[in-house]
Amino acid sequence: MSKKVQEVVDSMIDVGVAAPLMPDSPLYEDYFRGLSERRITVRQCDDCNTLQWPPREICGACQGSSFVPADMPHEGEVYTYSIMYRAFHPAFTDSVPYGVVVVELAEGVRIIGRFVDSDPDSLECGQRMEVVFDGLGDGSGSIAWRHIR
Ligand SMILES: [Zn+2]
Repeated sequence: MSKKVQEVVDSMIDVGVAAPLMPDSPLYEDYFRGLSERRITVRQCDDCNTLQWPPREICGACQGSSFVPADMPHEGEVYTYSIMYRAFHPAFTDSVPYGVVVVELAEGVRIIGRFVDSDPDSLECGQRMEVVFDGLGDGSGSIAWRHIR
């Protein structure tokens, strides 16, 4: 680890080990509002109905710029996954090894989140997952996944 990177890591440890937050952008307002209400909300183009995730200013299908919130199902299928053996942030040092999964909920909507179920070695592409809402109520909630019960 370079001296510069080590300084950054040390500064994060000095201020505590709060988990990093998602971007503070108006594009994510519907998403975070949905999380606070236990919903997964993405943007849907008002012109061509294409679902959009992550949110962007312009529709990738028709270049439209008008969107409406669209609620997603709370279950999906593992599109891909990874197992973390080193924490990318000090807040997760005690959690390794843990899984990170990308779950496909609908065409073009793949939501990434921590795997908070059993041994991460049990992960396989195509497994059915259900959402676990995390950190509710403070506007900084996140999504995690577990096997469907
Ligand atoms: Zn569109």
